[in-house]
Amino acid sequence: MPEFHSRFQELQRRVPIDEHNCSVKFDETKCKNCTLCRRACANTQTVMDYYYLPSTGDMPLCVHCGQCASVCPFGAITEINDVAKVKAAIADPDKIVIFQTAPAVRVGLGEAFGMDPGTLVEGKMVSALRTLGGNYVFDTDFGADLTIMEEATELLHRLQSEEIPIPQFTSCCPAWVEFAETFYPELIPHLSSTKSPISIMSPVIKTWFAQKNNIDPKKIINVCVTPCTAKKAEIRRPEMNASSVFWDMPELRDTDICITTRELAEWIQEEEIDFTNLEESPFNKAFGDSSGGGKIFGNSGGVMEAAIRTAYYFFTGRKASKDFIPFEPVRGLQGVKKATVVFGHFVIHVAAISGLGNARAFIDDLIKHDSFEEYSFIEVMACPGGCIGGGGQPKVKLPQVK
Ligand code: SF4
Repeated sequence: MPEFHSRFQELQRRVPIDEHNCSVKFDETKCKNCTLCRRACANTQTVMDYYYLPSTGDMPLCVHCGQCASVCPFGAITEINDVAKVKAAIADPDKIVIFQTAPAVRVGLGEAFGMDPGTLVEGKMVSALRTLGGNYVFDTDFGADLTIMEEATELLHRLQSEEIPIPQFTSCCPAWVEFAETFYPELIPHLSSTKSPISIMSPVIKTWFAQKNNIDPKKIINVCVTPCTAKKAEIRRPEMNASSVFWDMPELRDTDICITTRELAEWIQEEEIDFTNLEESPFNKAFGDSSGGGKIFGNSGGVMEAAIRTAYYFFTGRKASKDFIPFEPVRGLQGVKKATVVFGHFVIHVAAISGLGNARAFIDDLIKHDSFEEYSFIEVMACPGGCIGGGGQPKVKLPQVK
C-alpha cells in the first residue's frame, strides 16, 4: 500500500511525535479487558482493523474521535486533560483568556450535574466560565454562521462550475476529515475548503477583535470548549494559523487550547462551583449573537440543513420553509438519511451521515456503483448522532456541591 503509507507519514508529520495522540490516553492499570473501546474503534468507527500495521511503522492509527473514551466504563481511556494549561494562562496577568463554546456543550454540560440529557444550560455555562477566570466568553454559534455562509457559497459555486467536483462533503468534523484523508484520499478535492466554526472564529478573534479592542494578539489565549476530542488535533494542524499570517507572527496559533465538555464539568466541580444554582449570564457581545442555523450544528444533519437553506436564500432571495429538507432514512444503511431538494433549476440530492462506519459503508457503496455524482452535498459527522454524541461529552453525573 505505497500511497496509503506516504499519506500516513504525512499525517504523522503534522503532530510532533511526543504529541502523536494529543486527544486520548490509555492507562493500562485501569483496563479490565472488556474490549468496548476496541469494538467502538473497529466496528462502529471502522478505523482499527482497517489498515495494515506494518505500513504505519507499527504505530496505531487514530482519527481522534474519542469514541473509545466515551464507551470505556473504567476510566482506562480518557481525553488528554488540558485544563492545567488554561489555569496557567488565567494565572498569568499578561494573558487575556477568551473562551468560545461549541453548540453541543450547552446541551451536554448539565448532564454532569444531574440534569436531564439535553437541558439547555447556556447562561450557567457562561457564568461558570467567567467564574473560572475567563476574560471573555464567546459563542461558537457565531463561527458556525460564518462556516454556513462560506459553505453555502462554495456549494453554489460547485453546482454552477465544473472547476471543482461534486458532491461537496462537509469538513467541519475533524475526525471525519482525518478519516477521509487516511482511507479515501481521492475524496480530498470533494472536502469543503471551509474551516470548522471554531477554526473560522479563532482567527477572527485574534485579528478583527484584537484590532478593534487594541489588544496585542500575543496576549490572547484562545480556548475552545467542545464536545469533541478531535478538536484537540484539529487546532494543531499547521494550516490553522491564519492569524499568524495576518500579523506576521510565526509563533501565533489561531486556537491555543481545546478542552472538552467533560473537562469543563470536572473543573467546575473541582473548584466547588454550585453549577445548578449559578445565576445565568449572557455571552460577550461582538460574538454573542447568532442565527438559528448555527444552533443546529450539534445534531447530525444540522450542518447540511443550515447550508442548504442558506444556499437557497442566496440563490432565490427567499427564506426556505421549515420542512424544506424532507429527510428520510436510507434503507439498508444505519445512520444515513437522504433528501432531494429543488430550487431554481437545481435538483439537489443530499445525504447526512453520522458514525464513521456508516460513512465507510455509504462511500463504498457509491464507489461500487460509480454513483458519486448522484449526490451534490454530503454531511459526515464522525460521532454517532453528531457532536451531541461527541467523544468529550459527559458520561457520568459528578458528585454535587452541597
Ligand atoms: Fe467532533 Fe462532532 Fe466530529 Fe464527533 S461529530 S468528532 S464531536 S466534530
